[in-house]
Amino acid sequence: MAEETNQNEAMKWNGCPGPILLLGAPAVGKGTQAKELTRVWKIPQISTGDILRSNVALGTDLGRIAKGLMDRGDLVPDYLMNEMINMRLRKPDTFRGYILDGFPRTLAQADWLDNRLEMQAAAKAQEHCSGLVAVSIRLDYNRLIRRVTGRRNCPVCHRIYNIYGLPPKREGFCDVEGEPLYTRADDTLEAFENRMRAYRELTEPVIEHYRQMGSFAEIDGGEPMGIVTVKIVEAVYSFRSQTAAQ
Ligand code: AMP
Repeated sequence: MAEETNQNEAMKWNGCPGPILLLGAPAVGKGTQAKELTRVWKIPQISTGDILRSNVALGTDLGRIAKGLMDRGDLVPDYLMNEMINMRLRKPDTFRGYILDGFPRTLAQADWLDNRLEMQAAAKAQEHCSGLVAVSIRLDYNRLIRRVTGRRNCPVCHRIYNIYGLPPKREGFCDVEGEPLYTRADDTLEAFENRMRAYRELTEPVIEHYRQMGSFAEIDGGEPMGIVTVKIVEAVYSFRSQTAAQ
């Protein structure tokens, strides 16, 4: 009963979520959860993968550099990613907080972000919610493969479906936009293996870094989507309530 009350409070809380990092393997559900959290907290999702894909579609210089790397499942160089995030975080919609989905993916990106947040805190730009909360979503390898091979995306609203777990109402079409869904070029088994290699070598140390720093939660990504969302919301609410009480 007490647990339920806490869950309700957490879901209703509309304070200052601050910067939230969603970390985890490719296709673990970061994008799906980020979209749910934007609805709960009314803060933006900043998906580095989505920003890169729109640069590819628009044929920008960044898109041209990124395309081949992304299709193979390799990472885009840190200096380009940091600059891209820097530009995005300057927008005023990030003031109450934001959900970083897919960044940082290397220790160099994490160092860059930590420094940026420290400078911001020192300048008291976002007084009571400048510290980040990192959430790692975990899922076993076989289920990740199912998520990758079943994933379908809407080109217009970027909703993410899965033919096994979260199918659209009409096969092959977005429920909201009615557009034909597409499969990402890097959602092949070959590219997935490469993305997993990059994840193990470069991103797992980032997760360890944030685990050591505190304000860190680990969530089982195998639970139903709504439960995962509630657990993330509760974890963030609990860290923010502790900070506010200090
Ligand atoms: P995602 O949509 O998050 O799975 O990202 C798709 C691809 O975009 C990745 O496999 C990388 O090639 C590239 N990418 C996204 N975020 C980053 C990042 N933080 N650092 C480097 N490359 C990234």
